[in-house]
Amino acid sequence: MPSNPPVVVTGATGLIAKHIIGELVRRGHSVRATLRRMNKAEDVRRAVTRLGCDPAGVTFVVADLLADAGWDDAVAGSAVVVHTASPFPIQQPTDPDDVIRPARDGTLRVLKAAARAGVKRVVLTSSSVAIFYGSGLPAGHIYSESDFTDETRADLTPYIKSKTIAEKAAWQFVKSTPGAPELAVINPCFVQGPALDADLSTSHELYRLMARGVYPAVPRIRFPVVDVRDVAAAHVEAAFRPEAAGQRYLIGEGQLGLYDLGRVMVRELPDLKSKAPKFQLPDIAVRALALVDKRMRTILPELGEMKDYANARAKAELGLTLRSADEAVTAAVRSLRDLRLI
Ligand code: NDP
Repeated sequence: MPSNPPVVVTGATGLIAKHIIGELVRRGHSVRATLRRMNKAEDVRRAVTRLGCDPAGVTFVVADLLADAGWDDAVAGSAVVVHTASPFPIQQPTDPDDVIRPARDGTLRVLKAAARAGVKRVVLTSSSVAIFYGSGLPAGHIYSESDFTDETRADLTPYIKSKTIAEKAAWQFVKSTPGAPELAVINPCFVQGPALDADLSTSHELYRLMARGVYPAVPRIRFPVVDVRDVAAAHVEAAFRPEAAGQRYLIGEGQLGLYDLGRVMVRELPDLKSKAPKFQLPDIAVRALALVDKRMRTILPELGEMKDYANARAKAELGLTLRSADEAVTAAVRSLRDLRLI
C-alpha cells in the first residue's frame, strides 16, 4: 500500500517529473503532484501507467510558479517535496525574465511554502548548466559539485541564467531562514532516455526536429548526457538518504555531440537517414552565421568544447549505476518511434 504522507512532486507534466512519480510509486509511496492545469492530470496518470505503475495513489493540486495560490495546499502534511517545475524552452525567450522569474520566484515559493508546512526536505532539480559556466577556470578543468556558473557572464542564455539563479536562491534561502527544510540538489546533464507521451521535453523535441530534416547540418557542440531513469532514481535517493541533506549531485555519464545524436537515430531508424544531419558545420561558418543570426550567438561558447566532469559523488552517495550515453540516446529514439512521434 502507498505510504502516508505523500511525497510532493512539482511540475508533474514534465518528462523528469513523470519518471520520478513512477519511481516513487514503484517504491510504494503515494504522490501529490502539482500541475498548471487539472486537465493534464489524465496524461500524467497515463504516463505512470506506461511505466508499469498503478497511478491510483497519485493525487493532483493546481499551482503555478508565478502565483502563490495552491502551494500551501500542495505541500500540506508532507515531509518531502521534489521540485522539478521550471521552464525549459527549446528557443530562448527575448526577455530573459520570462524564464528567470518562474525559475527563481517559483523555487522560493515552493521553499517558503515547505518551510511554513514544516516539510523536512526539499529536493531541487537544478541542472549541470548551473555548474558548467564558471569564470576564469583553467583549460582542462574537471567540473564537479564544487563549481557554480557565474550568471553575470554576458554570453549565457536566459535558461542557463535561470537555473543558476534559482539554485543559488535556494541555497541562500535555506542558509538564512530558521526552520527551513533541508535542501538536496540534483544537477542533471542533458537528459535522454524514454519519452512517455507526445508532450515532449526539449530533450526529445530535438529528435522530432531532426526527423523532419530541420537540421541538414549541425554545429560541433557536445553534451554531457544522462538517462532520465537515472535522474529519477537520483531524486528519490536524494529525498530519503540522510547524507544527501545539504549536497548537490552532478549526474551524467559520458557525452555525445549533436551530430552523434543524429547518427544514433539513423542507426536505430535507418528510414530517417535522409532527414538526419549530414555533416558538422565548421566552427568558422557558425561564427560567421552568428553575425547575422542571434540564435547562433548563444552556442558560440560551446563550439568544439569538451566538458570533463566528475560523477563520483552521485554514484557513491546515491548508490547509482548510471546508464551509458549511448544507451540513453538509443532509448530516447526507440521510445519516440514506439509513440509514432518520429
Ligand atoms: P519539461 O519541459 O518536460 O518540464 C518542465 C515542467 O515545468 C513542466 O511540468 C511545466 O509545466 C513546468 N513549468 C514550466 N513553467 C511553469 C510555471 N510557470 N508554473 C508551473 N509549472 C511550470 O522539462 P524536463 O522534464 O526536461 O525538465 C524538468 C526540470 O529538469 C526543469 O527544472 C529543467 O530545467 C531540469 N533539467 C532538464 C534537463 C533536460 O535535459 N531535460 C537537464 C537538466 C535539468 P507545463 O507542462 O504546464 O508547461
